[in-house]
Amino acid sequence: MPWLLRYGIGTRITTICGELLRQIEYKALWNSKHFVQVDRFFPSTQLCSECGYKNDELSLADREWTCPGCRTQHFRDWNAAKNVRPERLRIVAEGHPETGNACGLRVSLAEACVAG
Ligand SMILES: [Zn+2]
Repeated sequence: MPWLLRYGIGTRITTICGELLRQIEYKALWNSKHFVQVDRFFPSTQLCSECGYKNDELSLADREWTCPGCRTQHFRDWNAAKNVRPERLRIVAEGHPETGNACGLRVSLAEACVAG
């Protein structure tokens, strides 16, 4: 959408998204929750949420696809949501072992506040 950039709307949208993420992080910290952001290049739509097969042939126009590995039919956004959740928990688990964090506090994955 080059017209967005031509009129500066793209820049404003980026600024608004950045501010929204900053507010979510602020509120998470305020409520003693963890803020986790999944890497923007994590292939959430390309990974099969059932078997882990990565479909490199998937284009932006493909809203549904069938996994060649396990024959599961995926709806793009639902599949991405299924893949993002375990990735968020993995990030939290890496940063906070169950035996306690760097401050000696006990951390539970269920307490994680996530965005991404
Ligand atoms: Zn599969």
